[in-house]
Amino acid sequence: MSILSTSAILLRSHPYGDTSRILRFYTETCGVVGVVARGVRATGGRRSEPFSTFCQGTLSLHHRQDRDLQTFREFWPTKQRTGLARHPLRLAAASVLGELVMRHSEAEGNPSLFGSLSRGLSAMEDHPLDSLLPRLLAELWPLVVELGYRPLLEHCVECGRPPGEEEMARLDFAAGGLRCSDCQVAGLGPRLGPRARLQLGALLAGNLQEELLRPRAHLRLAGDFITYHISGGEPLRSMAILHTLIPDSHA
Ligand SMILES: [Zn+2]
Repeated sequence: MSILSTSAILLRSHPYGDTSRILRFYTETCGVVGVVARGVRATGGRRSEPFSTFCQGTLSLHHRQDRDLQTFREFWPTKQRTGLARHPLRLAAASVLGELVMRHSEAEGNPSLFGSLSRGLSAMEDHPLDSLLPRLLAELWPLVVELGYRPLLEHCVECGRPPGEEEMARLDFAAGGLRCSDCQVAGLGPRLGPRARLQLGALLAGNLQEELLRPRAHLRLAGDFITYHISGGEPLRSMAILHTLIPDSHA
């Protein structure tokens, strides 16, 4: 057993017995880590949650390679992100980013992914609400890319031809990219017109699209792509919650 200290973001916290909690962190040096923190849940009506979800700081734990749950030593938060809890849309959007990383459950350190998740969560706390969805998409797609699932938009996966400027293509999830109008299979994958392709390309590179056309459809596309490639055929729960919270003005 060794003592490990790493930058970490708290993704989830569950009660465990009367006085303990299971905390799941995304850490910079060893990916997703679960720890049992004993004695952090006070009984008798006192505040039971010592850390807010998505707070970030330095985690210290006793680490053993062969164990699912590690032993917690200490956590010193440096970014609280308490602003996320003040608006349900912000919290739901942050939860999409957190759940994506947790579902993929990398057990290896990935400092670049850690940095992207951290930046995305802070953006969900601070970004103006009226363009929070486009901003979420500009944080979510780069995470998908970093996890190794970038959809190919430049040319058709079947014939290799780049789609024309006016051409309606479809995104074939299984093939991981576009099918041009010549190679489409009826009903296979969502339609992706020229404007949507341009905007998706920008989102993949992390560029905010303030004038995002049909943000709800973009969110559904990202959700379906993640369901297919990353979350094992089961949609992210936080994505379903987010859809119920989107105001009609975002449609
Ligand atoms: Zn083709």
